[in-house]
Amino acid sequence: MKTVYVDNNATTSVMSEVIEAMMPYFTESFYNPSAISGRADGVDASIARARRTIVEFLGASDTKEVTFTSCATESNNWAIFGTARANPERRHIITSTIEHPAVLEVCKSLCKIDYDVTFLSVDSDGNLNVDELMDSIRPNTLLVTLMAANNETGVIFPVDRLSAVVKERDSNITFHTDATQYVGKLPVDLNRDFEHIDLMSFSGHKIHGPKGVGGLFIRKGTSLTPLLYGGNQESGRRSGTENVHGIIGLAKACELASSNIENMQSIEVLRNQLEKELLKLFPSALVNGAKANRLPNTLNIAFKDIDGETLLHQLSQYGVYASNGSACSTGSLNYSHVLSAMEVPYDYIAGSIRFSFSRLNSLEDVKAIVETMKQIKEEIQK
Ligand code: PLP
Repeated sequence: MKTVYVDNNATTSVMSEVIEAMMPYFTESFYNPSAISGRADGVDASIARARRTIVEFLGASDTKEVTFTSCATESNNWAIFGTARANPERRHIITSTIEHPAVLEVCKSLCKIDYDVTFLSVDSDGNLNVDELMDSIRPNTLLVTLMAANNETGVIFPVDRLSAVVKERDSNITFHTDATQYVGKLPVDLNRDFEHIDLMSFSGHKIHGPKGVGGLFIRKGTSLTPLLYGGNQESGRRSGTENVHGIIGLAKACELASSNIENMQSIEVLRNQLEKELLKLFPSALVNGAKANRLPNTLNIAFKDIDGETLLHQLSQYGVYASNGSACSTGSLNYSHVLSAMEVPYDYIAGSIRFSFSRLNSLEDVKAIVETMKQIKEEIQK
């Protein structure tokens, strides 16, 4: 049975070029980059090259602005805890109700130690209200942390504009964005449209790179204490022996993403085609975030009075791998916090499915999904 993998917002397959680039760092170049030997110097130089590639890919100015982490969860934790520790006099944080748990849970944990957190609501399309954001700024606001794109619906927050208005109000507020789903799908230029963003999280495994490696962009001049203390790797910002093969793989994945970013239009064609066909097949279905600006690869569609979990199992029996949203909350009986925040009607929320494409998908995959859904529809109607 041919499988169709359309759960790329959960994770992507590692490109063969990425594996090839990583391989030597498991074998002949396994050295600890901090060791004192010519061979270790070679590994250190490879990390420096990888960092330069990523800095260029993100449009940052300085190699000192990118620090490697183990994943976007770590980057988000670091951005928030590190900002809080570096600026203890300010104790108010602004975020949204639809952030990934790697932001939400960190904010909630700070509430327990006397921080005030404003959780901004979204409308039924998943959009933020800019006035609500501006009204929530206080004299002691420390940090605004808003995602660049939502993992479940693909809805894009205009963090370029939001960071500009926040900074205009108070340039001492730190602006962090969790760009885990945005990077690699849409162009990022930290010196142009994202010029007001101080901190930005990203992850390797969402862009056809390896798992276990990510990064945090830290704009020059941003005050942030480390999360991990120890042997002073990463210029003292993030201790721990570098994940050398992971870093090399991440850089290769960025390089490939950079040359493929224009192809996102063809991914959007696939997404739009699937959306059209499914709405034809299930006329009562709704697209979550339909009227919002969305990532080109993501379709979150809600089927009325259908159990999404059952539908996902049926799809996987036919070899179609989709998701009900956040991989991290799969297995829990709670409905998606994102769709709940968007007030998706009760008879739809349980039937919401996410299809997320990558550049490895084709029109054949769309046809296979539609055919499978036709069969499932017949089974439901029996
Ligand atoms: N932030 C967002 C928006 C995500 O979609 C994810 C993963 O799904 C994460 C953070 C966590 O990423 P990682 O798996 O690299 O920790």
